[in-house]
Amino acid sequence: RSKEMGRSGYCFYAGELAQRQQQLLSLNTRLHRALERKEFLVYYQPIIDLRDGSLIGVEALIRWKSPEKGLVSPGVFIPVAEETGLIVPIGDWVIDEVCRQLREWEDKGMSLYSAINLSARQLWRDDTLDKITDAIERHDLSPDLVEFEITESATMMDPSHISQIMEEMRARGLKISIDDFGTGYSSLERLKHMPVRTLKIDRSFVRGVPKNDRDANIVTTVIQLARNFRMHSLAEGIETIEQWKFLKDLGCPYGQGYYFSKPVPAADIEKMMRAEQKWAIDDEDTPKTVL
Ligand code: C2E
Ligand code: MG
Ligand code: MG
Ligand code: MG
Repeated sequence: RSKEMGRSGYCFYAGELAQRQQQLLSLNTRLHRALERKEFLVYYQPIIDLRDGSLIGVEALIRWKSPEKGLVSPGVFIPVAEETGLIVPIGDWVIDEVCRQLREWEDKGMSLYSAINLSARQLWRDDTLDKITDAIERHDLSPDLVEFEITESATMMDPSHISQIMEEMRARGLKISIDDFGTGYSSLERLKHMPVRTLKIDRSFVRGVPKNDRDANIVTTVIQLARNFRMHSLAEGIETIEQWKFLKDLGCPYGQGYYFSKPVPAADIEKMMRAEQKWAIDDEDTPKTVL
């Protein structure tokens, strides 16, 4: 790939490129500082069993509490951290923090699993799996309580190497989801052999259902594909009860999205657990959340 190409494939003019490099550098410096000053935190988004509306797990999503800019979303800084490599220490921190939180929940008698996003950069490192195993052991957790999300496009960067890493993860009892499924052109032949538990249907397809035929077809196909491969399907970005009904009727077992809850601080997940929060499909008037 030529140096002049930006991530999205734009061609930058020399001045623009220099300016962008400058911005990257300064953001990277600030991220470094943020890590030292412990300005990162983890939000959790509920994962729901679409069949009965119960809360079965969460996805851990990082946030940056910047003193200058407030709560910064990962869409802004994760791509930069991936480019500069800072994603590795940041990702290590996330793994440890989520394990710590899961231990706290276990101790409080709330058994929940958490999905954790892994970037390709982390996967490629030889020591990442040891760090994961170490964090799980240090916090005295069962590996069952975590599931690692790898984007479909990350699996495509070096498919045979990634397959090997996935095999090693399986051997260690770690579960794997393919994130943003449907956007990355993965090979079905390869996918069939990957030790993957869950296909997460990308939000961009869920958005169009049930009205948009094309999206409805794609979603139907992915749910069927997961079933054929003995994997679970999980729909991301469910925002309406119509989408929930549609997905449930297609037999998609799991989902998450703003209809149920946005990503929230750990304390809010605790409140939901204590209240035995359930979402009801038949009653449009059901409060979406008790909070
Ligand atoms: P993702 O893993 O695909 O996470 C789902 C994103 O969709 C989250 O955005 C979530 O807040 C958002 N979302 C969930 N439901 C809905 C919905 O109903 N409608 C809409 N419009 N959005 C919804 P968020 O938290 O901003 O994270 C963005 C991305 O940043 C994540 O996408 C993931 O790729 C990355 N990311 C977040 N945390 C981490 C992390 O700890 N490590 C790594 N490597 N990446 C992370
Ligand atoms: Mg994810
Ligand atoms: Mg996703
Ligand atoms: Mg996504």
